Amino acid sequence: MTDILQLGNPLLRQPTRKVINFADSTLQDTIDAALSELVRVGGVGIAAPQVGGRDRWCVIASHPTPRYPDAPYMSPLVLINPNIVRRSKARDRSWEGCLSVPGVRGLVSRATTVTVNYQTRDGQVRSLNCEDFVARIVQHECDHLDGVVFLDRVESSSDLMSEAEYRRQVLRIPADLPV
Ligand code: ZN
Repeated sequence: MTDILQLGNPLLRQPTRKVINFADSTLQDTIDAALSELVRVGGVGIAAPQVGGRDRWCVIASHPTPRYPDAPYMSPLVLINPNIVRRSKARDRSWEGCLSVPGVRGLVSRATTVTVNYQTRDGQVRSLNCEDFVARIVQHECDHLDGVVFLDRVESSSDLMSEAEYRRQVLRIPADLPV
């Protein structure tokens, strides 16, 4: 089990550095630990700073959620040195949460489609076009790599909600049912 750093930890605010040495065992071990933790908690994404990593990588792992019942299932995908090279002008406001900001949800405006260039764990160059929920995850995780959390993107504090109210008002499910 890996500790996920919580809001207020200065490491969450530190921009990451580009990965050069893909054979670095500390890097690969940290990614493995983050993957395990992401699966354990059923999250849809995690970024290096959340597990104390200083390098530029994140994981996206879309699966359907009560808020996004049509979201695609995908095996966790590790993005090394991700760089969003295209964002649609079209934007969408939706609720986000974060493993580093427990108990709080916020309405965040994001581009609806993005193209992200990245490298695989062995350094191969790839490009991924994503839309909707997956595009939202990519933007959220890439923000982490620049020291930005979703709270920074919320336009008004009235767009914040406790997890319990989010479940009641947005998901319309009792607070004690697992999501
Ligand atoms: Zn997050």
